[in-house]
Amino acid sequence: MHESDTTPVTVIGLGRMGAALAAAFLARGHATTVWNRSAGKADALVRDGAIVAPTPAAAIAASPVVVVCVADYDAVRDLLEPEAGLLAGRVLVNLTSGTPDQAREAAAWTDRRGIDYLDGAIMAVPPGIGRPETLIFYGGSQAVFEAYEPTLRALGGAATHLGADPGVALLHDLALLGMLWTSTAGYLHALALVGTAGVTPAQFLPFAAAWFEHVLAPDLAATAAEVAGGDYATDVSSLAVNARAMDHLIHAGRAAGVGAGVLEPIQALLDRHVADGHGDESLAGLIERFKPPAAVVG
Ligand code: NAP
Repeated sequence: MHESDTTPVTVIGLGRMGAALAAAFLARGHATTVWNRSAGKADALVRDGAIVAPTPAAAIAASPVVVVCVADYDAVRDLLEPEAGLLAGRVLVNLTSGTPDQAREAAAWTDRRGIDYLDGAIMAVPPGIGRPETLIFYGGSQAVFEAYEPTLRALGGAATHLGADPGVALLHDLALLGMLWTSTAGYLHALALVGTAGVTPAQFLPFAAAWFEHVLAPDLAATAAEVAGGDYATDVSSLAVNARAMDHLIHAGRAAGVGAGVLEPIQALLDRHVADGHGDESLAGLIERFKPPAAVVG
């Protein structure tokens, strides 16, 4: 069905991401109006059929669906607050990165002005935009999402509505980014560590890849079940054992001159949790240290 959807769309913000969004709409045959603060960024899109609006107001007036993707929420507010009257009755899809609370504030603002609002988080880099597997999270009205889902699928085929909370998309975005940064930092630490023995990244790669595939990835489901059930009993690998292994890791790294800055906070969490009497629990038990203070156990 979405192949035939050609709802006119407006894209505000033609940075690396906004330009990719506009290009994906054009590729699907949507009449696409664009606006960017600095001139020149629309040139390639115009060659592909985009219409450049002279002002944000003209861009908004051109389409029932307005996608905004600029640097941050301050820029969104500065751009759109003066245009609230024009936005009323249209659908505003905000794909700008920020915090869940910024998304909720933006949604409250749109609610007061009769603007239908979806807040999205793009889980891809610009070359991924428009692909069937590309994941874009959305939060906000389910009815609005369903009404415009075919249009939104032009940007990423795996468009996923997570719930009515407008902050939920960015919450997922940040949760996954946290995993990205911690695992990437762990990988870089590992490369530096094996590098001290002359092991090249290419030599280590198959072991790192197998570790992810056969150890870390399968463990996600087990950890999810333990955290959901709040049951951290284990007869496999306890926190106390892992705290000792962490000690070895940090000492070995330091002895070889490799910085342990990535690992030290994890070591501190482990040590505190073990000292508080949770040494027999599984690694998943450490979730208690991440929960908001009122919920911390022990
Ligand atoms: P970018 O290439 O740096 O472009 C930033 C865009 O924001 C430009 O169009 C810029 O306009 C505009 N802008 C900044 N301040 C503005 C203001 N005060 N008023 C009007 N326009 C303003 O960034 P990007 O990569 O396109 O990222 C845009 C958003 O997508 C960000 O929130 C980013 O986190 C998110 N995102 C990006 C990626 C990625 O891989 N690139 C992935 C996921 C999410 P000018 O051209 O006039 O400077």
